[in-house]
Amino acid sequence: MNIKDHIRGVPDFPKPGILFYDISTLLAHPDAWQVAMGRMAREIIKFQPDVLAGIESRGFLVTAPLALKLGCGFVMLRKKGKLPGETIRHDYELEYGTDTIEIQKNAIAEGSRVVILDDLLATGGTMAAGVQLLRKIGAHVTGAGTIIDLAFLPGKQRLKELDVPFTCLASYD
Ligand code: IMP
Repeated sequence: MNIKDHIRGVPDFPKPGILFYDISTLLAHPDAWQVAMGRMAREIIKFQPDVLAGIESRGFLVTAPLALKLGCGFVMLRKKGKLPGETIRHDYELEYGTDTIEIQKNAIAEGSRVVILDDLLATGGTMAAGVQLLRKIGAHVTGAGTIIDLAFLPGKQRLKELDVPFTCLASYD
């Protein structure tokens, strides 16, 4: 099965000139979703994770089923102000302005092997911020994964510079 057959490109979303890769059609197709998660599980297990960290919000959709499949914990990396209790945050640069990503304090034991997951890798800014946040709390980030990689953008290179091996199911040039 070609996973790309179940991914929709939506032109001019969220802004004119942007082609948005939409996984809604993949999620809505139970057989294709099952295959996608099976393939991803086989790749992610190679990073030998104790914990999977999912990036808000579509990253959660990928992380929850994989955590169940692999018998790992699932920890959420969220936007500022969404997590209760004490949090640790990391600020990062966007094209215009900055953003903040947070994790609950003590969510991950120091030295845990963590794989970070999202739906899509583009410039890599979001994923790199997640890696830096996880490192801040003493996690050992052993890998990163997404369903989609926009290979014409520097995401993969960014992860390489951070020494984080990366895997994806569908790459677009
Ligand atoms: P990056 O930080 O530039 O790598 O962008 C990746 C983040 O933006 C991920 O959290 C994605 O969910 C989101 N994103 C960017 N472009 C798309 C797209 O075409 N489809 C779905 N999500 C996207």
